Amino acid sequence: MNIEIQSRLEALAFKKTIPFCYCCYSEAPTGRCAKCYSDDLMRLLPGIGCEYGTEWVIEDLLRNIEKVDISERFEDSIRSYYPKETSIGWLKVNTASAIKDLDPISWDLAKSEWADSEEQEGTLLTFDNGSTYFDPSEIESFLDSEGV
Ligand SMILES: [Zn+2]
Repeated sequence: MNIEIQSRLEALAFKKTIPFCYCCYSEAPTGRCAKCYSDDLMRLLPGIGCEYGTEWVIEDLLRNIEKVDISERFEDSIRSYYPKETSIGWLKVNTASAIKDLDPISWDLAKSEWADSEEQEGTLLTFDNGSTYFDPSEIESFLDSEGV
């Protein structure tokens, strides 16, 4: 996990939301409810909803950022590592397509291992344990444009 991006996303989540007292069902922009004086406040994201914490806000913010097509990115990387064509008997076949067709399970396994290692190197980011991936630079330019 990229700590810097994570904390900038949190900063943006705070910026986009208003503290909200669920008991009184009113906004509490000072961080303390003016009616019941509670500081046990939810975050209100106007037009979306209110809930405790910022994780769900970050999830919503990430909708603005284009996801990485892992299958496409992985296939590109395989194409760059192996010769474009492979001979099988008298056939010349596209190496990546052949692997995928001959052993789709091994292909998928290699793809998820590749995604893990890209994430460890910091070239891909996931916030949901690998269901979706983002390009860190895409998130950074989104954060830049939001001024956080
Ligand atoms: Zn209150």
